[in-house]
Amino acid sequence: MALLEMHEWYDLARDTNWTPGYVAEDEIFPPELSDPFGIPVEKWETFDEPYKVCYRDYVETQRDKDIGAYSVKSALARADYFKNTTPHWKALLALHFSPIGFAEFHSASAFARMTRFSRAPGMRNMATFGTLDEMRHGQIQMYFAYEFIKQDRVFDWAHKSSKTENWIIISLRHALDDVEHTRDAISAAIMTNFAFEQGFTNLQFIGLSADAAKAGDHTFATMLQSIQTDEARHAQIGTPLISIMIENGRKAEAQQLVDIGFWRIWKQFSALSGISMDYYTPLEFREHSLKEFMHEWIVDQFARNMKAIGLDLPWYWDYFLHDIETFHHCQQIGIYVYRATQWWRPIACVSPAERDWLEEKYPGWNDTYGKCWDVVIDNIREGRFEKTVPEVPPLICNMCGLEVTGIAGVGRQVNGRTWNATDFHLDHEGRRYHFCSEPCKWVFELEPARYQGHRSIIDRLLDGTVPPGPDGFYEYMGQSFEERGVCGYDYQWIDGYDIPRAAAAE
Ligand code: MN
Ligand code: MN
Repeated sequence: MALLEMHEWYDLARDTNWTPGYVAEDEIFPPELSDPFGIPVEKWETFDEPYKVCYRDYVETQRDKDIGAYSVKSALARADYFKNTTPHWKALLALHFSPIGFAEFHSASAFARMTRFSRAPGMRNMATFGTLDEMRHGQIQMYFAYEFIKQDRVFDWAHKSSKTENWIIISLRHALDDVEHTRDAISAAIMTNFAFEQGFTNLQFIGLSADAAKAGDHTFATMLQSIQTDEARHAQIGTPLISIMIENGRKAEAQQLVDIGFWRIWKQFSALSGISMDYYTPLEFREHSLKEFMHEWIVDQFARNMKAIGLDLPWYWDYFLHDIETFHHCQQIGIYVYRATQWWRPIACVSPAERDWLEEKYPGWNDTYGKCWDVVIDNIREGRFEKTVPEVPPLICNMCGLEVTGIAGVGRQVNGRTWNATDFHLDHEGRRYHFCSEPCKWVFELEPARYQGHRSIIDRLLDGTVPPGPDGFYEYMGQSFEERGVCGYDYQWIDGYDIPRAAAAE
């Protein structure tokens, strides 16, 4: 029997919108899940997916990708690579696998909601494959991380992390719940597929896989590439959706969804990719700085996509450009000094050679972040290890869940020095909320009811949710004594500093 080519039957086969006879349309597609924007169903039927694939071809391609990634893994005797790699690369792998594995697996649920509730048949088709993609991404990363457990218990967190109340996990979950899991199918798709995936997954998967290939970790590089090819396909759900929204008078709503989603995911990737690329990647293997990647993939490409589709740049674009160069440097300091609150072994990555690289990529680095590191370095040299760990908990943003930070040397004058760390706060229904930035505060103000019940880790510390005692905080976060981070180089990284940096500067 002659088989038809896919293009000959695809349009007919995917056109599965019937007029229901036994139940009302709204019962099958409740507006609060399917379309709170009230766009007529015949408009949704114009959704034209840019990438058309059928199940038979999908399975064949995916099988080939899996075979490729798994055979590279078994061929390269993974365990040996890991055993011989540096604390730099171990920290990078731990930072990647622990939060990303579960985030990918949970994404399957977001795509399943699009599959079930979207009014656009083409979108339902693409989202079905997206659901399968994200299950594969969860599984492959869980499996690849699992092999390391016998070398290092840190990798248990690839599976465990999502069930804990660790502060970094709370931060990521809050962002992903907002963007992917707690909105109608259309809003979630605009935020997830366009703002998150078209915007940021390139950064983590293409950027990081270039670094991994250079570092000789071909297993990791191949796995990342196999994931990114799926992301590039299913991320395309977002573009036709936004076009339909704009054509039907809903540009403002689409714009706002993109602006929220883009900001929320940026804060997460700033810390994750920023620390991975500019600190944890060994110097000799660095392909680009975060700033360079952001300028190529986001500032140029994503901004062009936004304009091409008929959206404007987010209102906070100028501040975003400033944040690209600053936020992750501040977070890296916080991650290192509060290292016991992380499950992996953080590293400082500010040896003299690394500082030179940072200064070259981010002029002024030594005058700002470098000054903080000088104090850490002098304390380590003098054996005052307890002084490298702050006693006071940090101020945590009630939106992004990360530390409220700022840069010394830029901003307002305090006691003859300039600081720009600002607590953007808001008093709402009897309590004060703290934010790291104007955009994080703006997101809250758009819909306080959505966010006001969330308590940051510091809120939980102050309201008695976290049990008292020296171990209470760690036990609350799911961290036994062995699961509390210590310096990944056992402080040996300061050997490159012969004289105290602070003294040398005077
Ligand atoms: Mn994925
Ligand atoms: Mn995805």
